[in-house]
Amino acid sequence: MKIIMLGAPGAGKGTQAKRIADKCGIPHISTGDIFRANIKNGTELGAKAKSYMDKGALVPDELVCDLVVDRIQQKDCENGYILDGFPRTIPQAEALEAALNAIGQKVDFAIDIEVPDDNIINRMAGRRACVGCGATYHILFNPTKVENVCDVCGEKLILRDDDKPETVKSRLTVYHDQTQPLIDFYTERKVLAEVDGTQSMDKVFSDILEIIGA
Ligand code: ADP
Ligand code: AMP
Repeated sequence: MKIIMLGAPGAGKGTQAKRIADKCGIPHISTGDIFRANIKNGTELGAKAKSYMDKGALVPDELVCDLVVDRIQQKDCENGYILDGFPRTIPQAEALEAALNAIGQKVDFAIDIEVPDDNIINRMAGRRACVGCGATYHILFNPTKVENVCDVCGEKLILRDDDKPETVKSRLTVYHDQTQPLIDFYTERKVLAEVDGTQSMDKVFSDILEIIGA
């Protein structure tokens, strides 16, 4: 099963993608996590990506597409995968479609998690991310057992630089301009499903399971 998670930054894509990945036993591929790991490891890709991410801009398509196309050809993707944060532009969606067409495959579900912009700004201020394993929490809606310590790996949590309100506003503008057109793209391919992302995390998850038939 090949699933794409769509939605504004902070809509809950990563939260739900991790749950679906656990339930379905398929990998969760987050381009944001890949870039953050590269930044942490001091790679050339990380340095290039950081200059865009810090401003709330998108990393150029040419730095993203090959990376994802390579990743989905790895052995653990044989039975499917969940893409979180990719595609984010029409050229990225076209690159993915071309790569899948070449091997006679297609995306099964593009799940759009809908959350109004006002909710997003509040959510992002409360998001905390683990510097070790990338797990995501929320100070009110999904707190850790011990304050500021990851439940999964014990590393400390941070407020992402790009989750500060000024940057979130830029990221929402970028989302509406460049990523929202993907909703029409996947509607035309008859794989789009919409979910109300303002519901509880459990309800969003059960709605998604119903859509994908898991
Ligand atoms: P995205 O991957 O789309 O950027 P996340 O999954 O990281 O978004 O979620 C953004 C923030 O909102 C996180 O702090 C997360 O814990 C919280 N969150 C996710 N889903 C919900 C929900 N249904 N209700 C309230 N908070 C949520
Ligand atoms: P995310 O963790 O998905 O919120 O992504 C964080 C940041 O990484 C984004 O604001 C972009 O700067 C960058 N990024 C992640 N995925 C992509 C992508 N598919 N295309 C371009 N930039 C991306």
